[in-house]
Amino acid sequence: MTQPLKKQTSEKFIRVINARQNNLKNISIDIPRNKITVITGLSGSGKSSLAFNTLYAEGQRRFVESLSAYTRQFLERMEKPEVDSIIGLPPAVAIQQKPPSHNPRSTVGTSTEIYDFLRVLYARIGRTFCYKCGKEVKKDTPQDIVKNTVEFPENTRIYVMFPVSPQTKNLQNELNRLRELGFFRAVRRDSNEIIDFEKQEIHSNLLNEDLYILADRLSIHNDQDTISRLTDSVETAFGMGDGRVIIRDFDKGKNYKYSSIYECPDCEIIYQEPTPQLFSFNSPLGACPHCQGFGRTIGWDEDLIIPDKSKSLEDGAIHPLRTEGMQKFFFEFLKFAEKSGIPINIPYNELTKEQTELIWSGKGNFPGINGYLKWVEENNYKVQYRVLASRYRGYTICKVCGGSRLRTSARQVYIQDMNIPKLIKLSIENVWEFFNNLKLSEYENKIVGQIIIELKRRLKLLVDIGLEYLTLARLSHTLSGGEIQRINLATALGSSLVGTLFILDEPSIGLHPTDTGRLIGILKQMRDIGNTILVVEHDLDIIQSADHIIELGPKSGELGGQVVFQGNISELMTSKKSITAEYLTGKKKFDKPRKHRLSNNFVSVINPRENN
Ligand SMILES: [Zn+2]
Ligand SMILES: [Zn+2]
Repeated sequence: MTQPLKKQTSEKFIRVINARQNNLKNISIDIPRNKITVITGLSGSGKSSLAFNTLYAEGQRRFVESLSAYTRQFLERMEKPEVDSIIGLPPAVAIQQKPPSHNPRSTVGTSTEIYDFLRVLYARIGRTFCYKCGKEVKKDTPQDIVKNTVEFPENTRIYVMFPVSPQTKNLQNELNRLRELGFFRAVRRDSNEIIDFEKQEIHSNLLNEDLYILADRLSIHNDQDTISRLTDSVETAFGMGDGRVIIRDFDKGKNYKYSSIYECPDCEIIYQEPTPQLFSFNSPLGACPHCQGFGRTIGWDEDLIIPDKSKSLEDGAIHPLRTEGMQKFFFEFLKFAEKSGIPINIPYNELTKEQTELIWSGKGNFPGINGYLKWVEENNYKVQYRVLASRYRGYTICKVCGGSRLRTSARQVYIQDMNIPKLIKLSIENVWEFFNNLKLSEYENKIVGQIIIELKRRLKLLVDIGLEYLTLARLSHTLSGGEIQRINLATALGSSLVGTLFILDEPSIGLHPTDTGRLIGILKQMRDIGNTILVVEHDLDIIQSADHIIELGPKSGELGGQVVFQGNISELMTSKKSITAEYLTGKKKFDKPRKHRLSNNFVSVINPRENN
């Protein structure tokens, strides 16, 4: 949350006067604006009391105060922190190690807003391909059809046709109706034979789908007359055929199907046109109807049914058949396997796909595992079967959407060879590379160029902050605190806030030393665009990169809460009081030499209740 800046302040400092929150000892301190300041000190020395419980809390309180009385009544009243005054405090944002929302569906993609950009991108330039035949799905216009058709060789004879409506119940009545509208000829679907249904009786065993209705026939010339006649005929056929037109190359006997509906003209499967909502698994428009957008369903879990795939059938690979009551079925099962040529003494995972398929689906009178499980389900009213079922049921990846949570129409939308389900399972680094290598047409660039720039910028931030290994599909609640904080940091940075006080709580936690360097780079970027950065930190690399350092101490709890040192790094190095300086100059050694962190051990021994 941020608070609006009431008036543009030109102050160079955030001035804290007489802070006494928690263990702070009436301290007054200046924090330079548009700089990186590290607050350091031992555990319990008062770092969080100053950064979060005083500065951030006051920022939040002022934000709430600035809202209307009406809005305020819905918000928790915030206590004024124990401080005489804070002057020059910008809107404050705390970047903490907890997820921004508790939505169990939240993913790295959604919480960083990257997924929102992807939804818009795919809606604008994604192309739908039929899942059955792979052909591109698009709406054809009469102009498209005419353009394709006049490219046929000169003098090619063509039919312009439309299908009989599939809802037709009585073909003869429908033909009578068409006759009144001025259509007299039908063409058999599988031959060029024309049936003149004004003069001829239609054979009673013909079905709707056996016939096309002829709208026009003509020879192709690439001239204006042909183009305008063809356009008229195609428009008529579109109108009569509920958006479907067939152009037949008479000489080759080949049909070209077109549709003004968003469908595969060959398979007649209708798809939804891409919109940003179509790619939202939180929306009924986009969510896979089978798993309702969870990506998982509760059902029989193969890994529970066959927990050890190195076991043979004979040794009881199929776990539910090992129970005592199942002995009879177990022997029937082995008999079936032997009869079907399935070896019962080799590991399950060495059986062929056909053999395991037989085991699951059964054959003839033999029900297979699926049949057996169905029988267990049907006997669910008996407690022993309910217990049995509960042992082998679990969350499994949704079979329909493959865990992508999206419905078919959304999954079939591609940019080059990449659909969203595939993209969100790549590492963030690979997603970034995909967009770096993406070649767009001039037109595409015009409509999505800006979105791609935003996407790449946000992906790059995540790479820079050391999260390149995550996937966008990763669930937020499975991330570590450090990962969440870095995502929050990248998101805050991605939103390009300026004039803000960012307060971070030990961002180096869980970082590799190389990533610490990148983190520092990001903090500097945030500073350079006009933000004030306040970091509670022990990490010596970060302390050394700070513009300003405040050390609280001298010890923890009641013995802390005082300013031991403030100044820049070279001043710190010569400080007589600073414990950080002792570590920096090597007077004090680390317990673990590879970990550049102040040791808190002796403090926690003295005062085990204190922690930060
Ligand atoms: Zn198709
Ligand atoms: Zn699903």
